[in-house]
Amino acid sequence: MTCSSPALPVEAMQYSAYLLEPGKIELRRVPIPKAGPGQVVLRIERALAGGTDRKAFERGHPQIPMPGPFGHRYAGTVAELGPGAPAFEPGQPVMGVHSAPCLTCPLCRKERWSLCPDVMREKVLGAFAQDLCIPAPVARQNLFPRPAGLSAEHAALLEPTACVVHGLESIEWRGVDRVLILGFGAMGLLFAQLLPHYTRAERAGAGKRARRLELARRFGIAPVWDLATTPLREQLAENERFDCVIDCTGRLEGWQQAFDRTAPGGQVLLFGGLPRGTLFSVDSYRLHYEEIRVLGSFHFAPRDVARARELLLSGNMELAPLIDGCLPLSQLEEVLRRLQNGEGFQYAIDPWK
Ligand SMILES: [Zn+2]
Repeated sequence: MTCSSPALPVEAMQYSAYLLEPGKIELRRVPIPKAGPGQVVLRIERALAGGTDRKAFERGHPQIPMPGPFGHRYAGTVAELGPGAPAFEPGQPVMGVHSAPCLTCPLCRKERWSLCPDVMREKVLGAFAQDLCIPAPVARQNLFPRPAGLSAEHAALLEPTACVVHGLESIEWRGVDRVLILGFGAMGLLFAQLLPHYTRAERAGAGKRARRLELARRFGIAPVWDLATTPLREQLAENERFDCVIDCTGRLEGWQQAFDRTAPGGQVLLFGGLPRGTLFSVDSYRLHYEEIRVLGSFHFAPRDVARARELLLSGNMELAPLIDGCLPLSQLEEVLRRLQNGEGFQYAIDPWK
């Protein structure tokens, strides 16, 4: 079921940003959604624009139809509850993610929830707006109360944090003594902060932007190699390898480098996705004779969301450095251009400014 948008009087209208085609955003005046059965309509306080939005703005995205409402990271307060919706109160602050698995298909029954073919069937799109309808399965599984101590801006990090938790959960940590993170965008910095919850291994990293590398150091990554002027191969001995390498560059060269730096018996987590059809070649000798395990990581499962929420509420994470600024909805296109130009990795959008 999709959220219903019946004809409404003029005062029940809101602003919502639409992605028309790559490179083109339009701010539209559209009816405020009405909550149908099981649905919850939110008043958005903050939405986040990050890597996925940048990719969709640059080249389109298989999960983001165009032209269509845009934005999937959000936090807000409950505006309206549909019949049979979960027991929230109007006005209650909430946080959530944008999808939910069906729980009944063969992959869900094997607990591979992130691979559920229906995980995106009733997804949330349109967080870059003043009001947003949360579909029933998402409201039921992945919408939560937001305690007063967590700002809307930081609560909107639930989705990227859940993705990182999903990646960390896929690694077999036994026997891992040295970890290498490649790339310190918002996701790389989340990995840096959350790694100590999973391993006591030595944590090294490499990336390109001085401010980000400084943050990585602050989050306990040492050593940190600056790749802005000198490639990693010139800074590390040819045979220096790690038990676990996490690629957060989302670039083919990053994948290649991550695989090359994985030690025999090690694991390489390819976290940053590449466009469909991209071919990734590896030395079969290393796969077979060195038993390197290549791991993909996509999306998250409901239990990753719950864990991510616990971590965000723990008060032990530094969330402010993960957001490069807050701009009004009318400047969304400007924000996406900034992301395209490498000026920051993640911005908050205030739809009421
Ligand atoms: Zn399923």
